Amino acid sequence: MSFYSRNMPGFVFSALFMVLLAAPGLELMAQDKDEPEAVLGVVFSEGRRTVDVDLSRADDKSSEFYITAYDLARIFKATKYWKPGARKLVLRIGSKDYLFTIDTRVVVVNGEPVLMRVPARYVDGAVMIPLEFVGGVLSRESAERIELDGDNLVLTIGTPEYNVTGLRFEKVNGRTSAVLTLTDELLYHVDTDTPGLLRLKIYGGRLNTLKMSAVDGKGLFRRVRAEQTEYDAYLFFQVEQSASGFRVEFTDPEEGDHEQNLVIYLEKGELPEIPDADFAGRKMVEIFEPGSMAERGFEIEKIMIDPGHGGTDGGRVSSSGVQEKDINLDIARELKGMLVERLGVEVLMTREDDQFLTLTERGEIANIEEADIFISIHCNGWFHPEAGGFETYFLAPARTEEERRQAREENSAVELEDAEMDPEKLEELDFIIWDMVQNEFIAESSELAETVQKELAEVLTIRNRGVKQAGFKVLRGINMPAILIEVAFLSNRSEEKLLQDQSFQSSVCAGIVEAVRKFSSGKIAADAGAPGTGY
Ligand SMILES: [Zn+2]
Repeated sequence: MSFYSRNMPGFVFSALFMVLLAAPGLELMAQDKDEPEAVLGVVFSEGRRTVDVDLSRADDKSSEFYITAYDLARIFKATKYWKPGARKLVLRIGSKDYLFTIDTRVVVVNGEPVLMRVPARYVDGAVMIPLEFVGGVLSRESAERIELDGDNLVLTIGTPEYNVTGLRFEKVNGRTSAVLTLTDELLYHVDTDTPGLLRLKIYGGRLNTLKMSAVDGKGLFRRVRAEQTEYDAYLFFQVEQSASGFRVEFTDPEEGDHEQNLVIYLEKGELPEIPDADFAGRKMVEIFEPGSMAERGFEIEKIMIDPGHGGTDGGRVSSSGVQEKDINLDIARELKGMLVERLGVEVLMTREDDQFLTLTERGEIANIEEADIFISIHCNGWFHPEAGGFETYFLAPARTEEERRQAREENSAVELEDAEMDPEKLEELDFIIWDMVQNEFIAESSELAETVQKELAEVLTIRNRGVKQAGFKVLRGINMPAILIEVAFLSNRSEEKLLQDQSFQSSVCAGIVEAVRKFSSGKIAADAGAPGTGY
């Protein structure tokens, strides 16, 4: 079901989804259909494409799309009244009532009949409303701004608050640049893993994908495609093969200018100037095909592995009774062995056995030992048994008001630590509070997270849920780059089996080890100021 198959970061959205799940009949739509005929992306006023909704056609010949009344109610927070005998449905959206009668084209708006092109339908136990109702009648009647892009199937509700507001390409003296306008100096990450493609991820970025994707390329930039996920924005730049390198940086805003410019310079031949990599995320440099990226020993010498939960805190528990704390410890033990064996680094663990540790203690151990990186191992879980995959979190401050609010709520839960431990609540504490001390490590943590996620994708066949930025609850006061890996879902039956499988655990560890190797080598290249990955 598409609702869950998006990049849903575990329980980060649990508050939101609890509400949705509490609504009866959530699973009504889409589940009984194998393949949706089309998907409608819904963008809410905060600018995120947060919901994807399956659409269907009344019959094969029809060019009209239908949306279930259930989804409609969910999107517009409507109250719905269904009178089965009369085959009538009332949706109360805002202050208005919309009365549909099955198999008729009439919708009665607060007593006034309006005609639609096609009738409402009743299919497989679901009331189907023509999508044209949304773009037409509802858009006219609603106090809120409602815009339906019928060609691209994107529904925008309210006026989106984008923080990535503009994109233009400039060409000066053989150097092409892409200039992005941002309202904030957001953290970003660039990679060029696919030849000819430059992928820019903007953490917490919110943009108008249609507008951005429509910008024509220029010079070495051939074209651009924008994507929006719940948390982050992505820009995929197709670049000419003759491009030899790029540089990314925030340029200082003009006097009195409130917007930030994030500029990607693309050049043929040698880059004339390679600024030092800046770990605060302001600059990144990369020369394509670095060639001389030979490994020269290791920057990272000591690693702290944190097997999540332990003792009275079992963590998540699968339906068959497998406890997360045990899986975490198994994986951590093997990871330790593999790191020592393959990289020759010193590896410590916050707990070596089934022992209870507060979240603060875990961070303290890492700090006292002065480890170079901190890797917390956890298993995920979700209400929906089909949710699955692996994801890696790094820490960053809450940025949006929504994130701040959630952070405040989650942070209050951490007080539990000192009180009676409630295992139920502890589940929410995979992430510990954001703390300022992590600030200087954000860029490195994000880099480590990206590298781990990429390497895990090489070795795991379960779903890649991507790198997530946890704006709250994470690893308080850890004085080093820190990440948290949710290896797989204990709530998913097949992944529960995998999590107990020796070869799966080994694959996970191998992926992490490879990522640490690359992260460490990259650090050296950057620290030496040598051409290479500038992070
Ligand atoms: Zn956990």
